[in-house]
Amino acid sequence: MTSRVRPYIGQCGFCGQGLLRVMRCKSCQAVIALCDECELLWSDPVQVAQDPQVRSSGAFPACPHCGTDPSEFEFLNVPQLGAYNLESYIQGLSF
Ligand SMILES: [Zn+2]
Ligand SMILES: [Zn+2]
Repeated sequence: MTSRVRPYIGQCGFCGQGLLRVMRCKSCQAVIALCDECELLWSDPVQVAQDPQVRSSGAFPACPHCGTDPSEFEFLNVPQLGAYNLESYIQGLSF
């Protein structure tokens, strides 16, 4: 199917270029939002989906919950977002 296409929940309100991807920390299972351009991240994907100008949780990408670095993050696909009740925040799909 379209497993290589990744959903995004908005556009980054800070760099204006990146798309906000929902990722899960493999270490603590927390779900977070990450800009794929400037790598700001938000500990609450719903909050930033509703307001792209909301303050980010960190300028240096690391899990805001456990401090793990982003190499331990995994992209969530559409069915996985559905499992977290985030499906309604998906704005589109892109590579
Ligand atoms: Zn950005
Ligand atoms: Zn974590």
